[in-house]
Amino acid sequence: MCPVKQNQNEPSASLISVAVVLPVHDCYTYTVPENLLQLACPGKRVRVPFGRRKVTGYVIGPATKPHATALKPILDVLDDEPLFPAAMVPFLKWVANYYIHPLGQVINTALPAGLNIVDVAVMALATAGREALATQVPTALERAVLAALTEQPADLRQLRKKVGPPVTWALIHQLRQREWITVASQTRGGKVRPKTVRMVSPTPGAVDPDRLSPQRQAILDLLRQRGDLSVPTLKEQYPTAPSLVRAMHKAGLVKIYEQTIYRDPFGAPIEPDTPPPLTEEQSDALGRLRPLLDRGFQTVLLAGVTGSGKTEIYLQMTQAAVEKGLHALVLVPEIALIAQTERRFRARFGKAVAVLHSGLSQGERYDQWLRIKRGEATIAIGARSCIFAPFDTVGLIIVDEEHDASYKQDGGLNYNARDMAVVRAQHQHALVILGSATPSVQSWHNVGTGKYMTVGLTQRVNRQPLPAIQTVDLSRLRDERGIRRYLTPVLQEALKQTLDRGQQALIFLNRRGFSSFPICAHCGQPIRCKNCDISLTLHKQANAYLCHYCGFSKAAVSTCPACGSNKIKLLGTGTEKIHEALRHLFPQARIARMDRDTMTRRGAMVGLLKDLKDHRIDILVGTQMVTKGHDFPGITLVGVVCADLTLNFPDFRAGERTFQLLAQVAGRAGRGNAPGKVILQTYNPEHFSIVAAKHQDFATFFNQEIGFRQALGYPPFTRMIAIRISGRNADQTADHARALGSAGQELLAADGDHQHQIQIMGPIEAPLARIANHHRWQLLVKSAHATRLHQFVHELVLGQKAPTIRSGVRVVIDVDPLFLM
Ligand code: ADP
Ligand code: ZN
Ligand code: ZN
Repeated sequence: MCPVKQNQNEPSASLISVAVVLPVHDCYTYTVPENLLQLACPGKRVRVPFGRRKVTGYVIGPATKPHATALKPILDVLDDEPLFPAAMVPFLKWVANYYIHPLGQVINTALPAGLNIVDVAVMALATAGREALATQVPTALERAVLAALTEQPADLRQLRKKVGPPVTWALIHQLRQREWITVASQTRGGKVRPKTVRMVSPTPGAVDPDRLSPQRQAILDLLRQRGDLSVPTLKEQYPTAPSLVRAMHKAGLVKIYEQTIYRDPFGAPIEPDTPPPLTEEQSDALGRLRPLLDRGFQTVLLAGVTGSGKTEIYLQMTQAAVEKGLHALVLVPEIALIAQTERRFRARFGKAVAVLHSGLSQGERYDQWLRIKRGEATIAIGARSCIFAPFDTVGLIIVDEEHDASYKQDGGLNYNARDMAVVRAQHQHALVILGSATPSVQSWHNVGTGKYMTVGLTQRVNRQPLPAIQTVDLSRLRDERGIRRYLTPVLQEALKQTLDRGQQALIFLNRRGFSSFPICAHCGQPIRCKNCDISLTLHKQANAYLCHYCGFSKAAVSTCPACGSNKIKLLGTGTEKIHEALRHLFPQARIARMDRDTMTRRGAMVGLLKDLKDHRIDILVGTQMVTKGHDFPGITLVGVVCADLTLNFPDFRAGERTFQLLAQVAGRAGRGNAPGKVILQTYNPEHFSIVAAKHQDFATFFNQEIGFRQALGYPPFTRMIAIRISGRNADQTADHARALGSAGQELLAADGDHQHQIQIMGPIEAPLARIANHHRWQLLVKSAHATRLHQFVHELVLGQKAPTIRSGVRVVIDVDPLFLM
């Protein structure tokens, strides 16, 4: 039944608050007609009139009557059961408020894709149209459309399929004006449904065996023996089962009913495991963590060096939570790592685990969502979107590799799942564990201020020392020819020795493709994207130049757009070039590449990781994908081709990101029994981020970095909100950015408190000034006072005096931006 409770003091159940799926920032109140009263519960979708439209919205909860407004009734309730628990509403509202994003769209982001209902225009043939068909009046195209509608009404997509692409809205409009056709709006969508299977159950009562064929008899026997079976299961034994069962149903021998089944995203079953005996450090850590469960809100930063066995801590904490009847939510940065973590959790907890990430099909994701919501799974593992897992209560939230940038969603709702984990835990009085070998500056700062507790693991499980790191100064090798500038003699020698010992190596370069800086040998012009202010990258495998920002591509045989010469110098090195060079240098070695180009196929990652583990690969070349938490015991050498790529970004976090990336990739070496070695090649051997990474010395790095941040007033000492302005028209975009800038200054001038506490930087053109033909500007607003900052930006962008956004210009709010490009 419906959980909208009603008593004297509460708002009437016939009024509900609805978040419509539109870019509006308020909830709206609707009345519920008598016949829908039992159905319109929080968490379900409803159809509501909105202006002259009908739209989908989510029931947020009961409402009180607003003054002097005529309320409209909801039109329909779209779900049998709520899509999210009512208990999540305060959290969802917080997200909408903090990220300055419409609540309906926040919920849309939270829910598994494929549930959206859309209105589709459906065309039908009118009497006049039928008559026109019989005359010579219509053109051939009009005739084709009318003919296509004689059988049944169709939408535009169906018409195009039948008639061809020339069918346009303009044509539809003409036909409608002549009253040859009618156009009506119809609700479509919500294509994901629970998957069901037909189950067969024997009807009670004895049957005269003489009246049964042997096959019917066999099926009945099987059902009596094993209980109800599905038609597909029966079919495995009796290929004709589907028709047999139908006949048996008619004869009253069996009953048939539908049952929901879950699509299985898990491949092969996984053998259960038993927990290993803990190391001393691990049991100390658990001894401190366990008592924090079920004791109210607390955040703990688990700082444990690479290979110190953090995952075992996560597993045992989850175990402890489940034993106390608490739900656990486990966030892992990327699909790459989920495969590994998911296996370990499933080996320990079996069916209690549900997974949520973009590697699942829409149907699978929906099913996993339902299992969590119905309480059939008590542990949810997933990437950033898993922070929305529909548990009504959560007792433990784990964020693995908390420093990882992939917790930040860019586009649509710009959220950070790591930060939301802390907030969701606060709402639920739960424990959060943020784990990392290279904690973010933000989190470590929070330890310093006493906001977070910390628990440390200082040693690797196998007591192996952290790998020795040797730096190679690339600037001294500028005179080396060709690829030897990157695969330096030191690195080549180390590779040779590793291969000779029968061990494995990992070569890291954070740039994919073959040549990242192709330039014309004749006129010296770089080969640029026609839509963006950036060089194209040559990808040999795809045989094309690709833009990494907008996806633009052109054939690899293209000539220089400036002078027409076909002599292109392929400067700039990517993983593809390194891979090719290594194949020439070590023809006997088995070399594989792991980057976004080679990992597009579903399951490719899992296959490659398995090959690596089973030593079917000697050298793995990869981008930052290889740095993330993987546990490859056979790797004894890590080569960093060029440590400086991230260092040169115009972004105040460049140093932090470089340190993390280098310390993480170094941590992949020597995790097995043989000691590891790292060769770190760089043009800046003296830079403090690189020196600190070389010594795996987080404390020294942090102390330097935090000094800079404080001196320059950057996070964590302030909070920032980026307002991004983009549009196709350069002048319009710049004008709007400037208008926002002056509106901001006026707001500051009007309010003395604002003036002292808020700083506006810009508007400036973004460092990447043009992407996909959109000109980009940004305005950075920062303040040490979070609430004031949010109020200010809300007022600036959505308030009464906000500059009206012209069509063609987009304004996006990015709270706590991670990338300032
Ligand atoms: P981290 O995430 O801290 O880098 P992992 O959790 O991946 O480290 O652990 C590193 C390796 O040590 C894994 O292969 C894991 O199975 C193993 N391991 C962890 N704890 C123990 C233990 N107590 N005894 C034996 N092996 C362990
Ligand atoms: Zn040229
Ligand atoms: Zn481009």
